[in-house]
Amino acid sequence: MSPTTDECLVCQEHSGEVRVPGGHLVADDAVVAFHLPPWPPPAHEVYLGYLMVTSRRHVPGFADLSDEESAAVGRWIARLSRALESLGAQRVYVMAVGHGVPHLHVHLLPRWPETPEEVSWLDVGTWRSARKGDAAAASCVTDQVWDRLQAEKNPREC
Ligand SMILES: [Zn+2]
Repeated sequence: MSPTTDECLVCQEHSGEVRVPGGHLVADDAVVAFHLPPWPPPAHEVYLGYLMVTSRRHVPGFADLSDEESAAVGRWIARLSRALESLGAQRVYVMAVGHGVPHLHVHLLPRWPETPEEVSWLDVGTWRSARKGDAAAASCVTDQVWDRLQAEKNPREC
């Protein structure tokens, strides 16, 4: 398997060697999830709400996951999609590509309501007025997602 985990961007995002805005949203035995950092350097902006769900283990794709790991990845895709929708996303696009880094990372790409209808799913993060921000803005979104996850776990009694 190459590159080794030392050279793997996703492993570096797990270890903290590459910082992710607001820290990890999930970090357990099977899954690590976080907001995409501005990337690659010297980029200062990132599409806000762009989350990554990754396997804890350094494996290239879904075919390499155990049943338990794939269930956990699916569960967090669902929970984080709900959190983004509760923050106003009209849709959450879910993709696993893996051409660049051979460590399973699932892209969760929200479509915010101000996105014109003619903007395709591929361009929601890059059109002229796409909702972008720096690491601090992304960190704020991470906090909002975290709040939604907590609210789902412990629904407020009325
Ligand atoms: Zn890795």
